[in-house]
Amino acid sequence: LNRRLAEFGTTIFAEMSALAVRTGSINLGQGFPDTDGPEEVREAAVRALRDGRGNQYPPGPGVPELRTAIAAHQRDRYGLDHDPDTEVLVTAGATEAIAASLLALVEPGDEVIALEPYYDSYAACIAMAGGTRVPVTLRPRDGAYVLDLDELRDAVTDRTRVILLNTPHNPTGTVLTRAELAAVAELAVERDLLVVTDEVYEHLVFDGEHTPIATFPGMRERTVTIGSAGKTFSFTGWKVGWVTAAAPLVTAVRSAKQFLTYVSSGPFQYAVAEALALPPSYFDGLREDLRAKRDLLGSGLAAAGFEVYRPAGTYFVTTDIRPLGESDGFAFCRALPERCGVVAIPNAVFYDHRDAGAPFVRFAFCKRVDVLEEAVSRLKGLA
Ligand code: PMP
Ligand code: GLN
Repeated sequence: LNRRLAEFGTTIFAEMSALAVRTGSINLGQGFPDTDGPEEVREAAVRALRDGRGNQYPPGPGVPELRTAIAAHQRDRYGLDHDPDTEVLVTAGATEAIAASLLALVEPGDEVIALEPYYDSYAACIAMAGGTRVPVTLRPRDGAYVLDLDELRDAVTDRTRVILLNTPHNPTGTVLTRAELAAVAELAVERDLLVVTDEVYEHLVFDGEHTPIATFPGMRERTVTIGSAGKTFSFTGWKVGWVTAAAPLVTAVRSAKQFLTYVSSGPFQYAVAEALALPPSYFDGLREDLRAKRDLLGSGLAAAGFEVYRPAGTYFVTTDIRPLGESDGFAFCRALPERCGVVAIPNAVFYDHRDAGAPFVRFAFCKRVDVLEEAVSRLKGLA
């Protein structure tokens, strides 16, 4: 393994999901739903497969039906206009979109600012691009994790190329406000930076609202927006994601993508095109279902003795384990399956400042109600 990747080892998600299988534990670690998405969307994939749509290499940028549907989604929800032919790129999940964006836009030695705790692939992709990651830490304050705009401003140097945003934010559940986004946008314009923004949880916002940073003045031409069907339609195994941006940025990202996967899986693209056209009631229903689950798991964890950071979005809840007399999230998560048959993720893996993340543990609530209830009852045995 080369020096760029050596520090990363195996992702925590693979390690913890394997631990869940090995111990027969309830897996609240890796974020994937335990119920598949809408039947009609699955049927759309079956139809595409049967009708021979997408069974051979689809076009590199993605099938036109999906690019059109993505452009319509961005326009109808956010008023963002993108040409489906030149400003939309379909990728193999958001994971590839992140990788291709960083590989395309970062020069060796460039600095990339990422909000810490950061989703694990960011660090690895910045490293593969030869960049230097500069974490700006979200701080726990009044029951939520907050971005310190002064810290962000201070982190920008002459070598900064990209601010890598993630809102709604994994693992903290923070949803950046319009005021915060406006400040980030002003900074990006003032310092002539690109923003790569991971918005895969855009439809999972319970408090406040999701606003794409691309909608702010001066941002359309410097923002790469990343989305994914995995979270929105509960088909994480399909690996259909996308990038929307101004044409020169999409062209750049496509240059990298073509040598990573060339194209993404064909039949699923047709199905996701249909999924994006589902009525608003689908998106509302998904959000309300997850809101109830957030509240169920959040109050269960609080009753079990955890300090709970109530997430405004995503399907994760971050907790502090210190009220339980614990301080090392890694040790806690490795022991949890034995102690009570539940798997969670230690937030420390998402930090450069590992000490800052040490006592925090993330639980996923994108699971059936009976599964969450059983997990809560097991966790209550901890105290
Ligand atoms: N970004 C974030 C913040 C995520 O949590 C995830 C994981 N679901 C991804 C990207 C990857 O998304 P995909 O499964 O579409 O590759
Ligand atoms: N995004 C999911 C999570 O944060 C996991 C995706 C993965 O395993 N790479 O749990």
